[in-house]
This record gives sequence, C-alpha cells and structure tokens, in this order.
Amino acid sequence: MDLFEYQGKQLFAQHGIPVPDGEPATTPEGARGAAERVGDRVVVKAQVQVGGRGKAGGIKLAESPSEAQARAEEILGMDIRGHLVRRVWVERASEIEREYYASVTFDRGAKRPLVMLSSRGGVDIEEVAANDPDALARLHVDPLTGFQPHQARWLAFHAGIHTEAMKGVVRVLGQLYDAFIELDAMLMEINPLILTTAGEVIALDAKVTVDNNAFYRHPRFAELREATTEDPQERMAEERGVTYVKLDGDVGILGNGAGLVMSTLDVVALAGGRPANFLDAGGGSKADDVVTALEVLLSDDKVKSLLVNIFGGITRCDEVAEGLLTALEELDTTLPIVVRLDGTNDEEGRRILAERAPPNVVVEATMLSAAERAVQLAKEAT
Ligand code: GDP
Ligand code: MN
Repeated sequence: MDLFEYQGKQLFAQHGIPVPDGEPATTPEGARGAAERVGDRVVVKAQVQVGGRGKAGGIKLAESPSEAQARAEEILGMDIRGHLVRRVWVERASEIEREYYASVTFDRGAKRPLVMLSSRGGVDIEEVAANDPDALARLHVDPLTGFQPHQARWLAFHAGIHTEAMKGVVRVLGQLYDAFIELDAMLMEINPLILTTAGEVIALDAKVTVDNNAFYRHPRFAELREATTEDPQERMAEERGVTYVKLDGDVGILGNGAGLVMSTLDVVALAGGRPANFLDAGGGSKADDVVTALEVLLSDDKVKSLLVNIFGGITRCDEVAEGLLTALEELDTTLPIVVRLDGTNDEEGRRILAERAPPNVVVEATMLSAAERAVQLAKEAT
C-alpha cells in the first residue's frame, strides 16, 4: 500500500524524523484553519500518489491563512495526471538552503535493504542515477547487523553532503532505516531532504510504501488504508474481499484467478480494446463471489461492456451461471455482458444462460471470441 505524503510525514514524525508542522484539510475553509494553527506562511500541497506535483501546480505557497484558503480552493478538485485531489496538506513553509535525496528500499537481487543518498535532491532521482551516477551513493545493509552509524557517515561523505548538514543527515538516515524495519516498509523515500537556512535537516516530502502482507502486525494501518482507498470501486472491492485494480479503459474484466485475469487483459488488448480494470474474484470462487465482483464492476460508469471469463475448477460453471442470473436480476443492468465459461460443468452453465439470461448477456465459446465481442460492444456503446 502506498501512503500519501501527509501519512508518511506523520509516520516520520513518530520515528523522530523532523518534518515541518502541518495539518491535512479537505476543504478550503479547513485549509484556512490549518494555516492559522500552523503558522502564517504555509505551503499548500495536493495529496495525490503521483510525483511531480510541484510542476503540475499542486504545490503552492501562501503568505496568510486567507491566501491558504484561496490556494486550497484552486488545488482541491484538481486532476493531477489522472489523480483527483481530495485533500491538501498545509504545512509551515521552509527556507531551503540545499535539497538532498534519501531512501531505503529493498534490492531483491541482493536480498538486502538498500540505502541511497544524494546531494542532488528535489529532482527526478532516476535522472540523476542515469546521468550522474556518482552523485548517488548506494549501500546495502546486512539485515542481521542492521544499519551502522559509520555506514551512514560513509554514505554522507560519498554523496557529497555539505559539512553543515552532515550530522542531521546521518541522524535522519538512521531513523529512516529504523522506521523502514519497524513498519515493514517496502520503500521510504525523502525527496527532498532539505537543509534549511537555519541549519536544520528536515524531510520536505515523504513517499512510503508498506507491505500489505504485514498488516496483521500493524493494526493502525487500517486507518491509513481508509484514506488511501477513496476510489469508490476500490473501497467496495476492499470491503468485499476481492482483488480489484482500476485501469483506464472501458471493458470491464472479471475472472477467477490472477493468472486467468492477466491473460484476459492481454487478450482484450489483442482484440484492440482497453481493459477498465483487473478484477480477480479468487481461484476457488463461489457464485456469491462472482456476484459481489459484478456489483463492483457495474458501479463504475466508465465500464461500457463486461467480459466475464470463468474457468471452472473447484468453481462449477453451472453455479456461476446461476449466480450471474441472480445478480442480473438484482442489479437490473442493460450493460452488454459477454460470458465465457470453461471447465467443470461448463456445458450445463452455458445451457442455463442460453435459456434464462436476459438479452444483454452474450455467451461465447472461446476467450478470444469473447474478448473480441466485448471490445466490439464497448465500441458500439461509446
Ligand atoms: P513533488 O513535486 O510531488 O515531489 O513534491 P515535493 O513535496 O517534493 O515538492 C516539490 C518542490 O517544491 C520541492 O523540491 C521544493 O523545491 C518545493 N517546496 C515544497 N515545499 C516547500 C517549502 O516549504 N518552501 C520552499 N521554498 N519550497 C518548497
Ligand atoms: Mn518530492
């Protein structure tokens, strides 16, 4: 799960990493109130999980609470590279002397955490790595001995961190590594980590990814998740325990089993269409799961046609067919739905649909023909 900047900063603060004082707000009035409490001069920052917010106009300086309100009014509701801004983070403005880059991530190849540090922060770090690799110091950490202070000093020296920032940067690196381990994170990135004109080292941005598989060890992550799944379909899927990823096409995809869903996406692309989502109702899914999944899909108005691709193993196709009929009755939709059933009891399943399904349901025999049909129907609908 990727966290928002404001969530990352709150976690940083709990681990002692200095961050500017700030508050989240979801309305312009809220931003004004936050600015009144935080300090007169603030930065209003769009909370979306995509980089380059500054360039996109999602980060603005405000000299007063009323100006903070006006800037928040502009930023809330903005679309930043496909991400709707539902919240801003209002924080005390910083006077920047230097911008650095610091991160801890996993190097799966080396099977170790990797700490990276650069004196060229605030910019796209991939660019630095490509054009000026020496400016990015890298160090693998033995997870058993942990990250040692001398390693932090080595990194700071090799990254060319300025003398006056040395102590602060070394301390933050240690704290960042500790937070990374304690929170079962996959990534912790600070870009920029700044040296202020007053000589303090603070994290001005925060990018944190935590491991969903470790949720059971961190009950408080449930709260963070509340805010991260604000997309209505994603939230609905989450609540109902189906795996759902939103994509930007118009052919809704529903399959049972991640492998099957992935190949369905490929086949839809091959047929010239664009998948609207990735929805896996689960390998051993019962008819009920299929119905639940269908509800999630039908609540997305970008979906113009639906491709239901079920391979019956433990799941019996006749049960799925019955489930589909029940769902369609309840949901009362006219959306074109193309169904391909294969595997256990597939003939029986197809017969049930042929006899009793409403006219918007089409049964196809193969995955390719089903995909072609779904793509064609989506095109006709737009
Ligand atoms: P990103 O563009 O999405 O990565 O957002 P960041 O939080 O990294 O901010 C982008 C840039 O905005 C930073 O590199 C800074 O140069 C600038 N910025 C952000 N906050 C402040 C601030 O409080 N004061 C000043 N002077 N610049 C800021
Ligand atoms: Mn940044």
